[in-house]
Amino acid sequence: MNLSIGKVGNFMVPNAYFKNIFEIDYKKLKKIGIKNIIFDVDNTLISYTEKELKEEYRKFIINLKKDFNIIIMSNSLSERVLEIVKDLDVKAYYSSMKPLKKNYKKILNKYNKEECVFIGDQFMTDILGAKRMKCKVILVDRISNKEPIYTKFWRVLEFFVIKILKRKNKFKKYQYYDNLN
Ligand SMILES: [Mg+2]
Repeated sequence: MNLSIGKVGNFMVPNAYFKNIFEIDYKKLKKIGIKNIIFDVDNTLISYTEKELKEEYRKFIINLKKDFNIIIMSNSLSERVLEIVKDLDVKAYYSSMKPLKKNYKKILNKYNKEECVFIGDQFMTDILGAKRMKCKVILVDRISNKEPIYTKFWRVLEFFVIKILKRKNKFKKYQYYDNLN
């Protein structure tokens, strides 16, 4: 992975950035032909310290299923992910090793890339992974800042990525935007 400054500036910019999954313009997603929404789990749908989805998230996802095929893609282990999604009746990929390509390929073998959007809270896993596959990706702010040590490691790298992007006027934390088309 070559993360030179120039490359980061053009490569790591999310297509859209929202405060949380509720703020995303799903009508627009539908309008631009998105049929499959692939959600990250930890700190996108649920905090690391919780084991069950909050009711507002659960209801929201179930409601989204009327309009989209919802897929879950998490780096967490099967036990945690399957417990979280148990009553959602959605396809779930766990131990995904984002940003590695392997599990993205599994999903993209099934669905048309142009009709997919990935949603997550981390630059070094969610954004980098989707961008490497040339997929649309939406960043959301993390739900909580309580994170395990391996996530803290990714956040250190993320800090530098955001710094570079900020310098290039491509991204600034808490300045939300939607450049999806
Ligand atoms: Mg996450």
